[in-house]
Amino acid sequence: MAADPVAADPVAADPVAADPVALRTPCPPPITVVAMDLSMAASYKSGVNDAEDEMTTGLPLPAYLATRYADWLTTRFAAASGMYRQLADEGQHPRAMVISCCDSRVQATTFFGTDPGEFFIHRNIANLVPPYDPAGHHHGTPAAVEYAVCVLEVSHIIILGHSSCGGVNGCYQMCAGKSPELDSDTSFVGRWLDILRPAYQRVAGKGSADEQIAALEKEGIIMSMENLMGFPFVRDATEAGNLTIHGLWNDIGDGALLYFNGKTFAPVLAED
Ligand SMILES: [Zn+2]
Repeated sequence: MAADPVAADPVAADPVAADPVALRTPCPPPITVVAMDLSMAASYKSGVNDAEDEMTTGLPLPAYLATRYADWLTTRFAAASGMYRQLADEGQHPRAMVISCCDSRVQATTFFGTDPGEFFIHRNIANLVPPYDPAGHHHGTPAAVEYAVCVLEVSHIIILGHSSCGGVNGCYQMCAGKSPELDSDTSFVGRWLDILRPAYQRVAGKGSADEQIAALEKEGIIMSMENLMGFPFVRDATEAGNLTIHGLWNDIGDGALLYFNGKTFAPVLAED
């Protein structure tokens, strides 16, 4: 009589060994990818209900973008088509998540020289991570963090701030009472920047306005690292040695890259 395959296989008999993610109990159930509701997509595409919307949403790309795309497809994509095919067939397995500002001048993939598939990137205004708050709504950033940690099982999360950050400057102006428009209930930017208010309290009154804004750029990175550790699945992964959290600040003008070493921001050196 054949042995019970489950009983004979210690991995199969142990749900934790069979599924390492099970160790991280605060993670939600695995994500199931469901098919898109094509009927909704089709009705949108038809534009039968709102011809005016189609005038603004159904336009072709600007010529300069279409030209750039055609150039990329026939040069860089063609040269790396095998890599793209492999990524498509095998899925993504990024080692790091990057949470950076929306600012168009800050491109982590540029100064790290990364290829597609290497970074799982989430961008928002002022590279903020909100506090853990499962009672809230519209968790864009927490959803990205949850997916990176619980599904992709990234080894690193990098909070990437930068110089001359308009979001950080806006938060400073708002908290200093100099920007009533951001203080408005109807300002999406202002309400998002509320996340940064506790960091403002740490720098308020310490130096000139420019010095406080510069300090707030870095204090916001530290605050977001602290907020990350408030997520149970992030804390569990770090305590298990599967995840490290990093805080970086990029000077756009001179290319400097600093990292938070627990006390201050120090230059990133190749031998580190
Ligand atoms: Zn910014």
